[in-house]
Amino acid sequence: MSLQIEHVNYIYNEGTPMEVYALKDISFELHDGEFAALIGHTGSGKSTLTQLMNGLLTANSGTIRFDGRDIHEPGFALKDLRRQVGLVFQYPEHQLFEVDVITDVMFGPKNLGLSPEEARERAKEALALVGMGEEIYEKSPFDLSGGQKRRVAIAGVLAMKPKVIILDEPTAGLDPKGRDEILDELDRLNKEQNLTILLVSHSMEDVAEHANRLLVLSQGELLFDAPPKEVFRHVEELEAVGLSVPQVSYIVRECKKRGIDLGEDITTVQEARDAILKLWAEKTKR
Ligand code: ADP
Ligand code: MG
Repeated sequence: MSLQIEHVNYIYNEGTPMEVYALKDISFELHDGEFAALIGHTGSGKSTLTQLMNGLLTANSGTIRFDGRDIHEPGFALKDLRRQVGLVFQYPEHQLFEVDVITDVMFGPKNLGLSPEEARERAKEALALVGMGEEIYEKSPFDLSGGQKRRVAIAGVLAMKPKVIILDEPTAGLDPKGRDEILDELDRLNKEQNLTILLVSHSMEDVAEHANRLLVLSQGELLFDAPPKEVFRHVEELEAVGLSVPQVSYIVRECKKRGIDLGEDITTVQEARDAILKLWAEKTKR
């Protein structure tokens, strides 16, 4: 699998007084098996980019290639692309509409032309992948918790067996438990199923902990594309565009100013904890 974005520009309402230049000369390639994250201020173009990547929107200029082929060349099967590059929209629970959970998750596979039995099998597998068992099958999607609804929506996309899953702020508005369950499941899908992930997020903590690569958008431009630890060294530049680094990184910086050096590139609570314990052990040994 390869998904290449080459010099892509996207303009809403081009040529009208409502014109918005949403994406400017964006280039990057999403690699097989990667867990990438996309961050940026509200309005920076994240949702627009996710919709371009599975062909829901068409770039004004530039090229998007899936497995080497331009997705807008004549004869390219966009339907196939949308199956292989699954997109979980922001607030996906708004799109749950069937009478029960299992029927909802079967919707995609049925659309692919699978028989009801096959579609049901697919749906069961997909629900299991997001940690949901039989007890949930006959429930109305509307009776689930916020986190469960999101997981059902994710299962609906997984049931299509995509190679890539793009999730637009899947944890927005969830409580910490619901959020952690979804992120841990994404980790597992990435490692065990080799599913390529692009996670749109507002949380520096979440991307520091889960992503191997961080894409930062600012006003439609790609500002950084590097591993999270590298990106988070650019504290001032991130702050200048309304972003930040993980809270724990600020604490570590503050400690350093006061003579307590916990080391470089600490971006997760776990790393800070380990560094503190190590320092403590060294001090008490002396
Ligand atoms: P994000 O997801 O990072 O918040 P979006 O991709 O939704 O950013 O928006 C990027 C820019 O495009 C913003 O200025 C937004 O107002 C504008 N925009 C988004 N959707 C539309 C639309 N349907 N029509 C016009 N402008 C839009
Ligand atoms: Mg958005």
